[in-house]
Amino acid sequence: MKKYKHIYFDLDRTLWDFETNSQLVLKEIYIKHQLQSRGIPTFNDFHKSYLPINHQLWDNYRIGAINKEFLNLERFYATLRSFNIQDKALAKAIGNDYVNLSPHQTALFPGTHELLNKLQHDYHLHIITNGFLEVQTIKLKTSKLENYFEKIIISETTPWKKPTPDLFLFALEQANAKAEESLMIGDDINADIKGAAAVGIDQVWTNFTASQVKFLPTYTVSKLIDILNLLN
Ligand SMILES: [Mg+2]
Repeated sequence: MKKYKHIYFDLDRTLWDFETNSQLVLKEIYIKHQLQSRGIPTFNDFHKSYLPINHQLWDNYRIGAINKEFLNLERFYATLRSFNIQDKALAKAIGNDYVNLSPHQTALFPGTHELLNKLQHDYHLHIITNGFLEVQTIKLKTSKLENYFEKIIISETTPWKKPTPDLFLFALEQANAKAEESLMIGDDINADIKGAAAVGIDQVWTNFTASQVKFLPTYTVSKLIDILNLLN
């Protein structure tokens, strides 16, 4: 493998175990807001309804069709409506709780600290994330990740989001890095992998779920720790 100098990591679903963390918070919310007595029979019913709604809204947010305030409210308002609960104030309270509680969760994918510990000696490590500023900052701190990274590029603080090439070019410029000496590591085939490829950055796709895609990333791993073998 060629010698890279800069490694850019995605955060959510690449290092920070979004699904596990999110599920813990949603469970807390389901109990706190007594959603069973409001007509949502089980937590699983709530969760199953929420997931596709959230997913769709994130797609809309990523292309700029909706803003984050709408996303935050609507993902819970639409979930409640799917159980015939018309309560915007409740959706708002849940949305606030979700945003406040989520970043304090600390589940990481196995090998995160081991990988970063080793890589930090030989590479400049950076983050490029599409998450929200206040949320991602807390996550990095509470999960004890912030000290590994030199540049933390949070799309919300720029005019762009992954996979927009301008965001990757901005990230390169921030770190004084060249595309050909950089590597992007992420779970999202569109935002992270195709986005990086479009500006000439090699990519490692962290495919933890054995997904099938047509696009061929530079490298693919099924576990974080396998990245160490790639770089040797
Ligand atoms: Mg991700």
